[in-house]
Amino acid sequence: MAEYDYDLFVIGAGSGGVRASRVSSAYGARVAVAEEYRVGGTCVIRGCVPKKLLVYGAHFAEDLKDAKRFGWQVPIDCAFDWATLRDNVLADVDRLNGLYTQGLENAGAEIILERATVTGPHEVTLASGKKITSKYILVATGAHPHIPEFPGNEHGITSNEAFHLESLPRRIMIAGGGYIANEFAGIFNEFGSHVIVVNRTDVILRGYDHSVRDRLLQISLTKGIDFRFHAEFEKIEKLENGCLKVFLTGQEPVEVDVVLFATGRVPNSTGLGLEEAGVELDAKGAIKVDAQNRTNVDSIYAVGDVTNRIQLTPIAIREGQAFADTIFGGKPKTVDYGNVPSAVFSHPPIAAVGMTEGEARNKLGSVKVYTSDFRAMKNVLANRNERALYKMVCDGMTGRVVGIHMIGPDAPEILQAAAVAVKAGLTKEAFDDTVALHPSMAEELVLLK
Ligand code: NDP
Repeated sequence: MAEYDYDLFVIGAGSGGVRASRVSSAYGARVAVAEEYRVGGTCVIRGCVPKKLLVYGAHFAEDLKDAKRFGWQVPIDCAFDWATLRDNVLADVDRLNGLYTQGLENAGAEIILERATVTGPHEVTLASGKKITSKYILVATGAHPHIPEFPGNEHGITSNEAFHLESLPRRIMIAGGGYIANEFAGIFNEFGSHVIVVNRTDVILRGYDHSVRDRLLQISLTKGIDFRFHAEFEKIEKLENGCLKVFLTGQEPVEVDVVLFATGRVPNSTGLGLEEAGVELDAKGAIKVDAQNRTNVDSIYAVGDVTNRIQLTPIAIREGQAFADTIFGGKPKTVDYGNVPSAVFSHPPIAAVGMTEGEARNKLGSVKVYTSDFRAMKNVLANRNERALYKMVCDGMTGRVVGIHMIGPDAPEILQAAAVAVKAGLTKEAFDDTVALHPSMAEELVLLK
């Protein structure tokens, strides 16, 4: 008889957990995966996927306006129906939830739709009380939205609820200046809501190159998004008519219909029995792991947002894959966190890879920067006064491209390919040697002077 019930017990069926479960199972491991909510996790159920669909939906607002300049007779009363988009998006989430479930089942992993907690180095206990033993335990429980502490914060929502809103808010206040704040600000603004972004500093999207951040801010302001900087929440009062009265430091109270908190995400590490099992957490509650995703307890591993390394889906997937390859595939693997491309699906989107200009100057001393500040030809014909900005940061000594930063239509689609070149350590000369693909926006990358 086997010593343990399973070879691998995974807690959390999100991006990292699903990949680790599927691949481990394919390697012949006996795998169970516990999920307390829905298979697919944040990205599929209430993150990247439904958000991107809302971004597509939102962008029609501009496309419909621009269409007239391209000869299309668009009715003036062209109206947007939130419920239609919301329900179609949620139906697609259901479809993906089914596909992820099927993928796990086809791979031979057992899905247990219950909360599981760690009750020993080789033991988990399900919400129903059943105890299960496993040679390895993988914690892949993700993260949840952080909500700042102040009176009335219970009246706000997070991105989790934004996908389910009963109706489109006429006025929405978004707290934070990061990914989620800028993405949802763009979405709701395009749908016609009045959007107020409230940030504790005057820096949005900290970590991105200052030029693309400034460009997004400038474009967002032009589109009518209202930014309140150096503002903290004092309290929120719910009025009799259901509206929210928000008190911010140094500002007149503001009345809105919805307040959405987008102030970072916190690892889901509490109430899981981790501390009792002796698993070390860092000051932010993230599970501490080594390069092999192993915690200080030999049989317990962790991947994805709960480890708070880089909170991105493709990273969680790579960590899950590396875990399975290492433990069950006999192919030890570690994840390379260098030159990870990322994007903000704002209106217009931002995409970046590698060092910002500031980071490169600090690290390399000598840098050369090339920029292209242009209006996409589609925007020119549409009379849309919105400029794109591409920036290439190079090592001044070697010419190696160490960073690319872009804001403009389709920037994420273009950057993915350019990121290959940056990751491969190519030089500016290699970009220059490549013939432009004309007419495109991407050609700017090989025409930088
Ligand atoms: P971010 O870390 O991107 O931004 C958080 C924002 O909230 C920052 O402006 C931060 O300010 C502010 N903030 C943090 N704590 C407080 C506080 N106590 N009071 C007031 N403001 C505060 O987090 P998000 O919530 O937007 O997204 C979470 C993570 O999810 C992202 O970091 C990203 O990794 C991932 N994500 C990725 C997406 C993508 O790839 N396109 C899309 C959405 C999410 P300050 O800068 O001063 O710290």
